[in-house]
Amino acid sequence: MRSIIHAVYTQLKRGKMIEPLHGFLPLVVDGHEVCASYDRHCRACLRRTVNGRTQYYHRVVAAQLVTRRFCLTVARAILAAFYDWLPGRAARSP
Ligand SMILES: [Zn+2]
Repeated sequence: MRSIIHAVYTQLKRGKMIEPLHGFLPLVVDGHEVCASYDRHCRACLRRTVNGRTQYYHRVVAAQLVTRRFCLTVARAILAAFYDWLPGRAARSP
């Protein structure tokens, strides 16, 4: 994934598509919840209880480069799910 993002960034930069915003290229880092389900889940899912039911979900953090024309996601990572998924780690309770 990183090589694809790097290739996209390189092409945009060469094509002068990445224009600074007020003289800067801000990098915005933000967390997102990308999916949630009561039924479908995997080993890496986070868990919480909603109205007495177990809900499974994933969270990611993404870094986006903000230009005058668009935002480009330059990095992303799954949060906490891998932490719980590591051998020897107990599953988190909601
Ligand atoms: Zn999952």
